[in-house]
Amino acid sequence: MTDTLDTAAGDGGTGGGTGGGLHPRFDGTSSRRLLARLRDIMAGSGSGQDRLDKIVTLIAGEMKADVCSCYIMRAGEVLELFSTEGLNKTAVHNTRLRVGEGIVGYIAGHARPVALDNAPSHPSFAYRPETGEDPFQSLAGVPILRGSKVRGVLVIQHKDRRRYVEEEVETLQTIAMVVAELVAQSELVNPVEVTTTGDPVLLPARLSGTAMSAGLAMGLAVIHRPQLTVRQMVAEDADAELERFNTALQTMHSAIDDLLEAASLAGLSEPRDILETYRMFAEDRGWLSRIREAIRVGLTAEAAVQQVQNDTRARMSHLTDPYIRERLMDFEDLTNRLLQHLAGKTSSTDGATLPDDMILVARSMGPAELLDYDRTRLRGLLLEEGSPASHVCIVARALNIPVVQAADALNRIEPLDQLIVDGDHGSVFIRPAEDIQMAFSEAVALQHRKEQMYAEIRNLPSVTRDGVPISIQLNCGLLIDLPHLTASGAEGVGLYRTEIPFMVRASYPDVKAQTDLYSRILDEVGHKPIVFRTLDVGGDKMLPYMTGGEEENPALGWRAVRIGLDHPSLLRQQLRALLLAAAGRPLSVMFPMIAEVAEFDGVRRLLDLELKRLDSQGIERPSGLRVGTMLEVPSLLWQLPALLPKLDFLSVGSNDLTQYLFAADRGNPRTSTRYDPLSPSMLCVLRRLVDECARHKVSLSICGEMAGRPLDAMALIGVGFRTLSMSPPSVGPVKTMLRSMDVGALRQYMSGLYTGADHSLRDKLRSFAKDHGVLI
Ligand code: PEP
Ligand code: MG
Repeated sequence: MTDTLDTAAGDGGTGGGTGGGLHPRFDGTSSRRLLARLRDIMAGSGSGQDRLDKIVTLIAGEMKADVCSCYIMRAGEVLELFSTEGLNKTAVHNTRLRVGEGIVGYIAGHARPVALDNAPSHPSFAYRPETGEDPFQSLAGVPILRGSKVRGVLVIQHKDRRRYVEEEVETLQTIAMVVAELVAQSELVNPVEVTTTGDPVLLPARLSGTAMSAGLAMGLAVIHRPQLTVRQMVAEDADAELERFNTALQTMHSAIDDLLEAASLAGLSEPRDILETYRMFAEDRGWLSRIREAIRVGLTAEAAVQQVQNDTRARMSHLTDPYIRERLMDFEDLTNRLLQHLAGKTSSTDGATLPDDMILVARSMGPAELLDYDRTRLRGLLLEEGSPASHVCIVARALNIPVVQAADALNRIEPLDQLIVDGDHGSVFIRPAEDIQMAFSEAVALQHRKEQMYAEIRNLPSVTRDGVPISIQLNCGLLIDLPHLTASGAEGVGLYRTEIPFMVRASYPDVKAQTDLYSRILDEVGHKPIVFRTLDVGGDKMLPYMTGGEEENPALGWRAVRIGLDHPSLLRQQLRALLLAAAGRPLSVMFPMIAEVAEFDGVRRLLDLELKRLDSQGIERPSGLRVGTMLEVPSLLWQLPALLPKLDFLSVGSNDLTQYLFAADRGNPRTSTRYDPLSPSMLCVLRRLVDECARHKVSLSICGEMAGRPLDAMALIGVGFRTLSMSPPSVGPVKTMLRSMDVGALRQYMSGLYTGADHSLRDKLRSFAKDHGVLI
């Protein structure tokens, strides 16, 4: 896929077939011929090494390359030269590169293709004298991927400077898939080098992971294995394959329709909404056309589906943004379904053989796959990959199924092992001993009592013991989050992250699509207030259809309003859609990542232009327009007197504010917990904001994660915050806490803490809560 080609050297990349040096055209015909000969090699006899040698010779010959080499991943993340045509043969099994070392290591480290017409100028270029590669100028290389793992790297090199065409890189990717199978099947390397084993499987064990859906569950392990192995890679007849693919696609569509119907019959609105989004993926033209293109080039339908999956997974695997990763999982779910339909299977579950109390264990899973299982038997879910906001977790929560994410689960758990999933603390007990099982039963009873308590206070006032009202709002990002508004008793939506709907689409939504969506959201929230935050993409939240280039420091990079100010038409379209959707209704718009007043003035100007546009077209304005910003960038703290008179409200994004205040990447586990938001410096900043906003009569709220943690929320109320916006599961615990606290006593206690030298005030605040009966 051309869009994944790396041009990091500045002068690399693909061209239209001409460019650097003159070379014979490599096109679809050449590619088909190469693949046909590859099929003969795979069908022939010989050891894995023999066949690999034949493959690199074939590639070098057919692609008129001076060199073709194959590096295979060995234990310890080392890439070993396994076969070459064109480099010194003595280097084979001697040349080794670490992941990240040299261009080969760069390709493995980034799991993406590279095409360079001047390889020696690439920053990762590493010279290996034993290979004799000095005279080679150009290089195209692709990762050899199997599952989500890089198994090696396949490269071609040319003496002259040349630009590679897309077909060449795509053909290399296709061959790399075949080589991946060869590595797996012929045991070119010892299988223990590519698998990891955990503790002895029969002893009780405990996994620590992340809590993704609250609650406790006990049952027997059912291993969900949707992956079907693709055996035949290259097809004889592309038309017949296309036909097969189209039929499987149609069958899959009807199966999803059946699921939709079943979900609506069962009165489940959330899963139905998700499945509808999911059906939208199934009709995604970009995804389908990439698969069809791969079939036309000569792959079997199964291999084409797999290739597109591998490619998407590899391209997106380095992204840490949870929402992008979740969209990726939906695609994976779809791919697995399609593979099953191609294999003539319709479901991965077989009701007759499943236990009555089952805990599903899966690497990852999509929402429709979860719904394939009999809900009356499903007790819990354990995922190796995923995050709390993933679609599968949203469905699980709608079904009241506890979920934990824990790495290495599949290596530790055998089918029908007894499991306890603790979705409150993110723990999993494997084959638990009797005492653990007893403790579990007591914890279940406690959980029921807590749930009853949250339900009882849902409609009680959100007021502290000494009578201070606190507004609890929700953070949302999908239509399906909105029913929580009624269920939780929250007063409104304090943060609607508009980037999320953009991320689940294959292309940038036009004004009409955005207007329809915002309209539906406003209909859904009814008379309750909602704050729409404009697009906060960029950095590692890059949209699939947006190219911003790689950044060294994405969190400090081109994101949010910085993109909107550089591409005003994008932001104007979104503002237009919001204004159109709200016509005659109240509208609150919030701008993220504002770092100075001039930036706010810039985005406000765009909003005014859109308001004028409305007037000139005689379209009704929103009945009340409120405009605010996030406070995430510390520089803004020193412009508050100039900024606040221009605002109706301000909301603290404590997730980003903490990372920028302490210069500590929020996505990096080594630094994200190094500094505590409950530190004197952060609380001083927050107190100053409370004072300044009060002085300028600007509403202040906080919508970062700390607002949803009871102890942190207590401290925020002590500092002076009166509006807290949080994810739906936090509402019950935070409301319980605030109804048990006394603001006056806390404020007095905290007044002596701001100037101290403490790293964190967490312990002191916890002791205060304990001494004063605050339920944290
Ligand atoms: C924040 O930074 O605290 C925030 C709410 O925004 P996001 O988490 O979406 O960056
Ligand atoms: Mg933020």
